Amino acid sequence: MTTSPISGSRATAARRVLDALPSGLLIGGRWRAATGGATLAVHDPATGEELAQVADAQPEDAVAALDAAAAAQPGWAATPPRERGEILRRAFELLVEHTEDLALLMTLEMGKSLSESKAEVAYGAEFFRWFSEQAVRIEGRYARAPATSERLLTMKQPVGPCLLVTPWNFPLAMATRKIGPAVAAGCTMVLKPAQLTPLTSLRLAQLLSEAGLPDGVLNVVTSRSAGKTVGPLMSDPRLRKLSFTGSTEVGQALVEQSAKNLLRLSMELGGNAPFLVFADADLDAAVEGAVIAKMRNNGESCVAANRFHVAAEVAEEFTRRLAERLGSLEVGHGASEGTQVGPLINEEQRRKVEELVADATSKGAKALVGGSRVDGPGYFYQPTVLAGVGPDARILREEVFGPVAPVTSFETEDEAVAAANDTEFGLVAYVYTGDLKRGLRVVEALETGMVGLNRGLVSNAAAPFGGVKHSGFGREGGVEGIEEYLETKYVAVDL
Ligand code: NAP
Repeated sequence: MTTSPISGSRATAARRVLDALPSGLLIGGRWRAATGGATLAVHDPATGEELAQVADAQPEDAVAALDAAAAAQPGWAATPPRERGEILRRAFELLVEHTEDLALLMTLEMGKSLSESKAEVAYGAEFFRWFSEQAVRIEGRYARAPATSERLLTMKQPVGPCLLVTPWNFPLAMATRKIGPAVAAGCTMVLKPAQLTPLTSLRLAQLLSEAGLPDGVLNVVTSRSAGKTVGPLMSDPRLRKLSFTGSTEVGQALVEQSAKNLLRLSMELGGNAPFLVFADADLDAAVEGAVIAKMRNNGESCVAANRFHVAAEVAEEFTRRLAERLGSLEVGHGASEGTQVGPLINEEQRRKVEELVADATSKGAKALVGGSRVDGPGYFYQPTVLAGVGPDARILREEVFGPVAPVTSFETEDEAVAAANDTEFGLVAYVYTGDLKRGLRVVEALETGMVGLNRGLVSNAAAPFGGVKHSGFGREGGVEGIEEYLETKYVAVDL
């Protein structure tokens, strides 16, 4: 494994990408310093080295960003949908064109391998293509009232200025998944990216300007004190919507805070995805799907398979094969050749992973592969498979957000479904079975917003992404995604 700093041509490319970044906050189309000149350092989680300093927005800067968004709102709402769609289409093309640089930037600040980062650019860019196509399909209705001569007219209008708050695990896609539909619907925005990964958002905003997005439509505030910085916006009557992706804990606090202003909300929160393997499943496909569902994004994904429930007849075989696959993955600096698994985002996250593994093993689980941190710089943790995980292990209840696969077994279908639903979360579940009837029966019984049926990857810009229970509400992507940014106005017409 190569956890040392990158060198040679890749290091030169990294310097070039970092040096080309805009500095400051994007407010009303201008890049400017934070009030008082405060800055915040961004680090490479593979080495701990400082990559860049970005502006540390103060509450008055966030208010200035909302001023700009509110001022741009009427003109933007009046812009023809085709024009909004074409800006998104150009932005899609620019993201694709700049894949290499964007991927390198993301790998540097977030840690995932370059191939994962490239996959995220492709996925993230798709939201711009998809919503460029949706912008011209915002429709209303015209109907006769059932018993009178009245006519019932409904029209869709943009919600208004939105606050978009994004997490560090998908620095590009979590932003494009919100910006795409907001632009298509005609909403202006203030984007607050995660403080650990603000760089990708700055580059993204630059590319959107290049694509023709008018000044003030997208404003970006980077900050080290999220709550303090966006607090004044949450109670500002000009703000009409919050779209948040992040932890359930912060999401719940923001829902409470939003009540005063009765904001429209989209909440994409934490997960605890079960991965069910029935005895009639194609085991090769199940292992393949398990590797993707577990290891995508170093396991730091809200849709990561958090726990594996496997039919007792095939549990040993499945666990052995999964351990073989995870044990063979190349761990290293995300930008080094051949790396498949990068570091975790920080020491706090690595400690949490260690704690959950220690808890499971103290209750009888056995690490078939991995099970410990990797010494040296950076926050590396070995890909790990835990066999024989007991029902009281914390890892079955808490989001591990790391490369650890705990496996437990079941005897009956009812037992499997009950175990899958035994969580306050409800984002996604994965089901592997060769029996279509069983598959659909189980899918219907699962309390989640999404299911991967014989598939370890569900994310798709053309599909509605989102959860139920403590995983939040609202949908991103699909035909549903744009609705989150539209209000319905009804007009009673007297003929
Ligand atoms: P987080 O701590 O909740 O942070 C998410 C965002 O909220 C960051 O930008 C953060 O800023 C900001 N924030 C924190 N406290 C805030 C406050 N009081 N007011 C306003 N904003 C605040 O989550 P995270 O650790 O970055 O992300 C991991 C979590 O996101 C996991 O639980 C994962 O499951 C979830 N997630 C969900 C989805 C989904 O679609 N359902 C997708 C990806 C991730 P700072 O960076 O400054 O703290």
